[in-house]
Amino acid sequence: MGRYTGPVCRLCRREGTQLYLKGQRCYSKCNIESPPGMHNWRKGKLSEFGKRLREKQKVKRYYGIYERQFKNYFNQASKQKGNTGENLLILLERRLDNVICRGQFTHSRANARQLINHGHLLVNGKKVDIPSYLVKVGDVIEVKKKESSKNIIIKNIENPVPAGVPSWLELDKEAPSMKVVQQPNREEIQIEIHDQMIVEFCSR
Ligand code: SF4
Repeated sequence: MGRYTGPVCRLCRREGTQLYLKGQRCYSKCNIESPPGMHNWRKGKLSEFGKRLREKQKVKRYYGIYERQFKNYFNQASKQKGNTGENLLILLERRLDNVICRGQFTHSRANARQLINHGHLLVNGKKVDIPSYLVKVGDVIEVKKKESSKNIIIKNIENPVPAGVPSWLELDKEAPSMKVVQQPNREEIQIEIHDQMIVEFCSR
């Protein structure tokens, strides 16, 4: 199935929570009160299966990934040592599109993907045009020496979203560039995610 291209607020209303898909606007004009569609399904009680399914969908929508990609991340996370749910979220946080967004180069993951796809970014001095590229500790992300792309990013950095830059990223506003100074941590993820429910759903 292709990527969802309809109104993104609908996705937040569907999940009953803010997914911050529109950048700055999510912090001023946001209404997730009414669920989409004609039927007020959210008033009904969700089954245990339904609750777990919704947690998985919420994560996919927040990070903007397909089902197949999600399964790959889950398989990778379950092979790693430690808590699978936490491993999964840390893998997703390490995606380049997420990192660009968390570091304030853009205010939404959709814009970050566009910037990356158009080849505006360098990781450790080399062009990377793959939004799913996983950053690691020590990586430095900067903008190609193109005035137009730099200007967009500087404008975004000067008007950061209230969520701010997480402690695992070091932002150099002047360059502009950012460095991954430590592994992303679970506590600084912007939305509430019940990762254990996702693990239970995927382990059925
Ligand atoms: Fe729309 Fe952003 Fe609010 Fe979601 S969080 S409903 S994308 S304004």
